[in-house]
Amino acid sequence: MRDVIITVLYMVSAVLFIRGIKLLGKADTARKGNGLSAVGMLIAVITVLFEKQVMAAGWTSYLMIAAAIAVGSIIGAVWAKKVEMTGMPQLVALFNGFGGLSSLLVALAQYANNRTVGADAVPFDGITLGLTIAIGAIAFTGSIVAWGKLSGKMFKKSVTIPAKNALNAVLAIVGLVGVCLYAFSGSNVQLGFIGIVAVTATYLILGLTMVVTIGGGDMPVIISLLNAFSGLAAAFAGLAIQNSVLVVSGCLVGTSGLILTLIMCKAMNRTLYSLLFGSFGAKKAKGGADSDKEPKAMSVEDAYLILEAASSVVFIPGYGMAVAQAQHAVKELCDKLEENGAEVSFAIHPVAGRMPGHMNVLLAEANVPYEQLKTADEMNPQMANTDVAIVIGANDVVNPAAQNDESSPLYGMPIINAYEARTVFVLKRGKGTGFSGVENPLFTNDNTVMIYGDAKQTVSSLVSEFDDK
Ligand code: NDP
Repeated sequence: MRDVIITVLYMVSAVLFIRGIKLLGKADTARKGNGLSAVGMLIAVITVLFEKQVMAAGWTSYLMIAAAIAVGSIIGAVWAKKVEMTGMPQLVALFNGFGGLSSLLVALAQYANNRTVGADAVPFDGITLGLTIAIGAIAFTGSIVAWGKLSGKMFKKSVTIPAKNALNAVLAIVGLVGVCLYAFSGSNVQLGFIGIVAVTATYLILGLTMVVTIGGGDMPVIISLLNAFSGLAAAFAGLAIQNSVLVVSGCLVGTSGLILTLIMCKAMNRTLYSLLFGSFGAKKAKGGADSDKEPKAMSVEDAYLILEAASSVVFIPGYGMAVAQAQHAVKELCDKLEENGAEVSFAIHPVAGRMPGHMNVLLAEANVPYEQLKTADEMNPQMANTDVAIVIGANDVVNPAAQNDESSPLYGMPIINAYEARTVFVLKRGKGTGFSGVENPLFTNDNTVMIYGDAKQTVSSLVSEFDDK
């Protein structure tokens, strides 16, 4: 009877996870999905305590678990409350890393409990434990590097590793040899120990060497891949400690992360192979922009006159819109332009901002109708017939170097062809580059004018101009 209850509870939490993930797919049901998944996790945790008979080990075990949950919950709640919307991507990267680290620690604890796989044990157990360590370690250090890059706290300059692919291949092979040593070590404790040390050390380093050279347009793709790794590590940890609900939840995170990675690869015109083994993102950027030319600045008043006469306007939002929290002002300007008879659309690049769907979330929050949000494929053919393209805090996603400068780290990344519009307004604070650190030749084009200032203030001033006339 006890086993039946445990199985049913695990099934209930697995169903809640699956339903939760489904609801997370849409902005308006995401909160509910998050809540359902959290309830599923609570049921899973209670069931594990019940199944493993933690009670039998005495109250101290409960106290330790309660203390760990309290500390984790307090840190998580304070962090989630404090984090700015623009800080979310690096927080997500850090969470991915912690997911990988927990699987790594679970596997190491399992190893410490049972130093040998035992003469009778099947190598499968040793292999799953070794793979948990490998994937957990790579997800951990890789995500810490991603966090450092996204927050600007580490690896600000592009890093190149000579013979990177050869080094990574050696690390990967030595680690896998370590897994085999452990799995087939039988009762030879020393050999098993060497294997565990080898896989832990090599894959911790591999996470670093794999991600540190990646930059520019490949960053979002590698983040989804790391997310998939943290899920796969949890799934393997579930196999290693024989916990079915951990296998299910790990597989859900792993597969959804892999699907997202493939979608991102497609959107970014990359293959997974070129992402991991190509030198994209590591190339040294050329000057890019024509250094003799200075961008032309325009006042809000003059920009208003052009907008007032425009019959088609395309907004191209980017990370700067998120920094400025300009989405509500942008919606107001969109309404004013429509009232004035202009046709307005939003061109959304798949990696605009700092996380997948970043722009969609912000614009949904400002009640911009979903139908008005268009992909690059939908908008680019219409760009040449657009009167004004308003680039709001976007930079890399409109950089023509991605199309015509083979030496650019962005080369090959699809962009929104803002440069084809009759007039291009670029709203940004100054001469800052985008995430890739590459200069943008769009800014010195003849049909481009810069409207310097914080995006929210500039857009609000444009709205006021419409109000005043
Ligand atoms: P970028 O990072 O290329 O450019 C943002 C621009 O916004 C900067 O040039 C900055 O210029 C400007 N800016 C910043 N703050 C403000 C403000 N308050 N008001 C006005 N402008 C401001 O953004 P994009 O969205 O074009 O490109 C996204 C980049 O991030 C891509 O390289 C992508 O690969 C990468 N990335 C994306 C992820 C994702 O999942 N979407 C994840 C990780 C990386 P200035 O300082 O002069 O104001």
